[in-house]
Amino acid sequence: MWGFAVVRLAIALGLGFGAGLIAGRPWIGLCTVLLLYAGWQLVNLLRLDHWLRHRSLMDPPVLTGVWDDVVTQVVRIYRRKRYHKQRLVSLLRELRDSTAALPDGVVALDEHGQIAWFNLRAQQLLGLRARHDVGLRIDSLVRQPEFARYLAGDHHAQPLVLHVDASPDVDLSLHVLPYGEGRRMLLVRDVTRQARIEAMRKDFVANASHELRSPLTVIAGYLEELADDAALDPTLAPPVAEMRRQAARMGTIIGDLLVLSRLEAKEGRVEGEPIDIGAMLALLRKDVLARVQHPAEVALSIETHAWLRGEESEIHSAFANLVDNAAKYTPPEGRVALRWWADNEGAHFAVTDTGPGIPHEAIPRLTERFYRVDAGRSRATGGSGLGLAIVKHVLQRHGATLDIVSTVGRGSTFTCHFPPQRVVADRGVGPSG
Ligand code: ADP
Repeated sequence: MWGFAVVRLAIALGLGFGAGLIAGRPWIGLCTVLLLYAGWQLVNLLRLDHWLRHRSLMDPPVLTGVWDDVVTQVVRIYRRKRYHKQRLVSLLRELRDSTAALPDGVVALDEHGQIAWFNLRAQQLLGLRARHDVGLRIDSLVRQPEFARYLAGDHHAQPLVLHVDASPDVDLSLHVLPYGEGRRMLLVRDVTRQARIEAMRKDFVANASHELRSPLTVIAGYLEELADDAALDPTLAPPVAEMRRQAARMGTIIGDLLVLSRLEAKEGRVEGEPIDIGAMLALLRKDVLARVQHPAEVALSIETHAWLRGEESEIHSAFANLVDNAAKYTPPEGRVALRWWADNEGAHFAVTDTGPGIPHEAIPRLTERFYRVDAGRSRATGGSGLGLAIVKHVLQRHGATLDIVSTVGRGSTFTCHFPPQRVVADRGVGPSG
């Protein structure tokens, strides 16, 4: 097309020059052709410009030569753009409609914690206003201090459950999920039903345990009398002894269930008072040695003067469970070692035994209620299967963690790690070995 245009211009110029030559003014002939050519281009340009300005209302102009080519290109680009725009709009519409159908709220936050976008459910649950609240910081709209702390912190593995002003009767679970560069997604879920069921479960366990305790005390009392009765038929002695053992086991289970219920009923972290762990461990060691059957060696190593800030009854219950397990599962010729020490990372209590050990795959499940590696062995030792669940709860309430290292056939070490804030330095108790 361009070649044709150049040839056509050359011919026109040639003709103009020729006509001018005949008339004795060749340059005037050339200029006339050039002027006509420039005028024609100008008219085409004007028509193109007019159409580009009003292209949504007008059909494209019918032009000739290279201008036709230009108009065709522009029409093609324009159609492609319109197609992509329509696709984008329909995709956005679909996204908006599908997120509006979500049962959970979703709020997209930019790197400054400002709302970039939210769906209909988030609007209802958090009381957000469509359009108005876009661009505002989420913590200026959800004003609970615990939410501000949760948003600013790094611990987003678990959601935060709270009540917001917009829906005071609803238990809301707020979960922050990072994505992109510094961006975050806030998932908002109504967990009122789950919270109610959980509360009912806790109440049921607490009430059932409490109700079972009195009849069991009566049964255990009569069984004791029966066992002490000289007139008891000797053939009945073994079943009565077994009944007493089982009643005692039931008593342990009910007692542990009540301890767990009480721990669950208490919300949040404990503050507590300084506890002399050295003295507590010395008493626990004595308890082990007072058992009818106990490991031959029970070593105690207090390596720090530090005390621990916490709830004494809870810490005692947790440590007693760990020491009791070590004593229970270690054979008489075995060894149990108790160790209490402190360092930059906090204070630590470890119980090591030379018992049967725990298979690697069972370790993550040990703190589940009623989970037993070897149910037969646990029952034989009078275990409730709740001891380590109690330990986990107590440690959680003290901001501490439980670490379990074990080798089957060689023994186990259970270590409680307490954070530095829990350590009360030097209360004057000397280290002993
Ligand atoms: P139990 O009352 O049955 O001992 P726990 O919750 O205290 O319940 O412990 C759960 C399970 O973990 C036990 O049944 C036992 O199988 C295993 N376990 C706990 N401590 C030890 C240990 N020191 N050595 C070997 N196994 C252990």
